[in-house]
Amino acid sequence: MIQKPRGTQDLFLNNSKEWNAVEEKFRKVLNLFNYGEIITPMFESKELFVRGVGDSSDIVSKEMYEFTDRKGREYVLRPEGTAPTVRALIENKLYIQENLPYKTFYIGPIFRYERPQAGRYRQFNQLGVETFGIDSISHDVELISLGQSFLRELKINKDVIVEMNYLISGNERKEYELELKKYLNSFNDLCSDCEIRIKKNVLRVLDCKIDGNKFTEAPKMTLFASQENKERLNKTLDQIKQLGFEAKINFNLVRGLDYYTGLVFEFKNIKTDQAIIAGGSYNSLVEELGGPDLPASGFAIGIERIMMLLSDQEIKVADEDELDLFIIPLSDDAQFLTNKLLLEARTANLKVDTNWNIKNLKAGFKSAERMKSKNIVIIGENSINSDIYAIKDQNSGETKEMKFKDIVKYLKGEK
Ligand code: ATP
Ligand code: MG
Repeated sequence: MIQKPRGTQDLFLNNSKEWNAVEEKFRKVLNLFNYGEIITPMFESKELFVRGVGDSSDIVSKEMYEFTDRKGREYVLRPEGTAPTVRALIENKLYIQENLPYKTFYIGPIFRYERPQAGRYRQFNQLGVETFGIDSISHDVELISLGQSFLRELKINKDVIVEMNYLISGNERKEYELELKKYLNSFNDLCSDCEIRIKKNVLRVLDCKIDGNKFTEAPKMTLFASQENKERLNKTLDQIKQLGFEAKINFNLVRGLDYYTGLVFEFKNIKTDQAIIAGGSYNSLVEELGGPDLPASGFAIGIERIMMLLSDQEIKVADEDELDLFIIPLSDDAQFLTNKLLLEARTANLKVDTNWNIKNLKAGFKSAERMKSKNIVIIGENSINSDIYAIKDQNSGETKEMKFKDIVKYLKGEK
């Protein structure tokens, strides 16, 4: 038997239904926040991520699905959604003044060659949000409340906490990195990735999935931040709390992608300690990729991690799947009339079905029950000859008789 690739998923029945419902809710919330969608290719030039995400990042150094096409061009299946959005912003000149601030979202699969485990796949899906041309505390607060609004829409109201930090840059960052290296020297049992990170990008040690929680006593980045930036972080936190959301500062919070500057945040599942939503501001990326100097910020939501949380909290997002009518045809003539009724009802936006394999009444009722139908009608020789059809309301158990031409009107509540 041929199996799916490691770290991928097949979604079907209730899972695909819930999955779509999550996506639908996301679209609904993003529409309320006045964001428009951007759709970019599933593969991009490798160079985009090497330059955008940083070649010492885990993503670029070991997680990309790379291939060369027949002309020898180097492509990768997109390992994240921000760099492609920025590429599209620049290539299509979306940054012109009349489009700013440009607020956009994307939905789609992301590919990373990771070690698969719970909540970690090689093909997973992100709901992403990016904004260009705004840099303010109020905007940061609005962005985080967007994430919160989405979780509220899904009725997720526990086990998630927002953690935030402020990434310093320039000389402040250099001073901090020296201090951090000194601190890390006292450990002699760090994982091999951390040993490399200490040399290449020491901040990322704090984000290590293996050793990360050993560093509770690490020097705090904000101690090296300017007064202004410290105040900015505290103000943001304060306003988020005032809006009624739970949040706290985590001085060790850093992100695995190089492009972040300033505010970074994560919505964490406190039970699994995994991030569900992660983002922040990335004020240099647009310019670094060849565009204008434009502040930017955004976040990405992992749909699979949302699905885990929903199933853990036994929350159903999709509507109950009920038929308006199930038809039981008991003869050849009845089958034709059934098709006629199905078409008429579906044209009137009713959800109706039958089962062409049904041979008798018993099988018909069984099918109707399995499909959870609100109403049932039996079409047999008697009803055809008399043009009297009995519609059974499955909730009340009552039966109503009517002519064939009145069935759809009755189901629509018009008669
Ligand atoms: P993690 O720290 O869990 O590895 P990350 O820092 O790599 O996450 P981002 O690149 O910021 O995450 O991606 C944003 C979101 O995408 C994460 O918060 C998570 O919900 C989801 N995500 C990231 N990697 C995976 C994966 N391999 N499988 C499923 N979801 C993922
Ligand atoms: Mg990761």
